[in-house]
Formats: sequence, C-alpha cells, structure tokens
Amino acid sequence: MSEKRIYNFSPGPSMLPLEALEICSREMTNYQGSGMSVMEMSHRSKIFIQIFESTQNKLREMMSIPDNYKILFLQGGASTQFAMIPMNLMGLGKDNTADYAVTGYFAKKAAAEAKKYGQVNLAFNGEAESFARIPKQSELNLNPNASYFHLCTNNTIYGTLWDYIPETGNVPIVADMSSCILSEPVDVSKYGIIYAGAQKNMGPSGLTVVIIREDLVGKAFPFTPTMLDYETMVKNDSMYNTPTTYSIYVHGLVLDWLKSIGGLTGMQKINREKAKILYDALDESSMFVTTAEKASRSIMNVTFKTNSEELDAKFIKEATERNLCNLKGHRAVGGMRASIYNAMPVEGVVALAKFIKEFESKN
Ligand SMILES: *Cc1c(COP(=O)(O)O)cnc(C)c1O
Repeated sequence: MSEKRIYNFSPGPSMLPLEALEICSREMTNYQGSGMSVMEMSHRSKIFIQIFESTQNKLREMMSIPDNYKILFLQGGASTQFAMIPMNLMGLGKDNTADYAVTGYFAKKAAAEAKKYGQVNLAFNGEAESFARIPKQSELNLNPNASYFHLCTNNTIYGTLWDYIPETGNVPIVADMSSCILSEPVDVSKYGIIYAGAQKNMGPSGLTVVIIREDLVGKAFPFTPTMLDYETMVKNDSMYNTPTTYSIYVHGLVLDWLKSIGGLTGMQKINREKAKILYDALDESSMFVTTAEKASRSIMNVTFKTNSEELDAKFIKEATERNLCNLKGHRAVGGMRASIYNAMPVEGVVALAKFIKEFESKN
C-alpha cells in the first residue's frame, strides 16, 4: 500500500506520517482490545478521556508549554479563532483596540474579522508589496495600549515566515501558527495565545488547537456565544460539547511520531535541511524565481514561478506525472507552491529539486 503513495505537496490538509496512518489502520475497528473504533467511543468514557489527556500531555511536553497555559482542543478551524480572539480579548485594554500585522491572506482575514468587535490598528500592512516579506521590528507601528498584537507566524500562501518574536512590551502576542506549529521549537512563554488549525502539521482537519495563558481567560465580551468563550472551554476541559474525538486521537499519534524522530529540535533540523535543498535548487536556476524575499522565506511553504504561466502549468502537469502532486500555487500568487510540512519526507523534496533541474534543462 505504502509504495503507491504520492509526494503530496498540498497546503492542507496535507501529508500525515505514514507510521501514524498505519497505526490508525491497525486500530481502526478495534482500538487496543476495546472492541470498538475510537470513532465509536463516548467522549466521556474512561478509555477516550485517557486518549484525550495523554494527547494534551504529549503536546505540553513536546512544546514545553508552561503550567500557566491551558491547551484547548476546539473546532471551527483557525478561521473561527479570527472571531473568537477579538470577542475574548478586545476588551482587555480600555480602548477596545488591537494591533494586527497584515502579512498575508489569513492575517488580513483575521484583521477584517476583528474590526467587527473594536478598532483595529494595522501595525504593518504588506499588501502593496505583494506580501513578499516580513516587517522588521522597527517597522511595526505598535500601540502600547492595544489589547493584544496579532500576527500570522507563517504565511501559507505567500511563503513567508517571521524569524523573530516581536517585542510588544506588556501587550500580549496572539499568533496564528496554523502552518508552522511543531515545525521548530518555540518559546511559548512569549505568547498570550498560540492557535492552529490541525490539518497542516498536527493531524486531520476538524481539530483546532489553542494554547492560552490563564490570565487571558474569562475576559470575553458579555455578548460572546457560550461556545466561543474560552472560559467555557477551559472550565469544561474542551468538553462542553462533543470534541472532535478521532482527530484528537490521530494528533496524539502524530506527536508520538514526532517524538520518535527527535522532537522539535530534530524536526527543525530536518525541516531546515528540506527547505535548503529546495531553495538551493531554485536559487541555482535561471528559469525559476522564488516569490518571497530571501530574508523572509518560509521553511514550510516554498513559493516559486517561471516567467510564463504556460510553463508553470506544464511544470505542474509533468510533476504530477512523477507523483509530485498538488504543486499549484494559490490563485493570489500564481505559479507553484511546495508545502513541505513535517510529514513530507526528505526524499520527496530531493525528488522535487531533481525535477526542477531536469525541467529547466529540457525547456
Ligand atoms: C490554513 C490556514 C488557516 C485556515 O485554517 P482553517 O482551519 O481552514 O480555518 C488560517 N491561518 C493559516 C496561517 C493557515 O495556514
């Protein structure tokens, strides 16, 4: 079965570690002698609570999450967080205002959603520069009275990555890490909230992970729907209603795999190596250019193009014939995008780099 698998460069949902999928397959109809699938278990049963808590503990250990942070397993995707964050945090400061760094498609969406709940100050807006880069600290126009500062750490569509944590004084940083969480070690204590849709680096879609500092819980606007109040989810251990049980189980298996390859430090080394192989191939080429500025390059989403749309289409088509799949760039950028998340093996990236060279010499 495994030899028929493709190298899937999809931006998300994306590849999962084969080791995790094989365990899913083995345990699909009978989880560890329970006589049922994880999908068939009550979320309140002892056996599922054990899966739930061990998954939370594994994530806490993997990311070295301090004790004064809660881990929430929610639903609604990162996109629901775009609304939950302002509903819960906009009222923290007295001015109902928040700072947003708009560095891409999702960051822009988050800022637009926040405008419904307060005043949004664009601490940076990279749209006029086609979101090709991340601002320097000195370029950030920060309001010291802001309730929070929101950024999107890795810009999935434009292929850029914040390689530093901005200095914001006492203003808590809220980070959308959907497309880079678990790709490298991160100092959680520098953030107020870290959130991510699971479908890039954590597991299947449906699960949204929120890591929130305790003092930020219980500050929601009174009109906040019960389901969208962090306090509801903290008080009920993410089980106010039925959580996305199967995705949580798979997330746990992904964390086991990550641990087996050396945790976040091991993963970072592999991810940097993969990105280097690809960027080196692109930098050596005279046919392809990368669309993100060098200093801002993502190690998860590599965006590139030729100078011709026909050639781009030909590249994507011929790559697909070689099992190098889902390389089409987002319509906002065009060209190609190789999403090389944690589960993309080095061999997949090597094969793509080889094909880049071959394609150039033939065309
Ligand atoms: C994929 C993605 C989203 C959207 O996530 P959903 O779970 O589909 O809502 C938001 N932000 C970033 C950075 C993403 O990569």
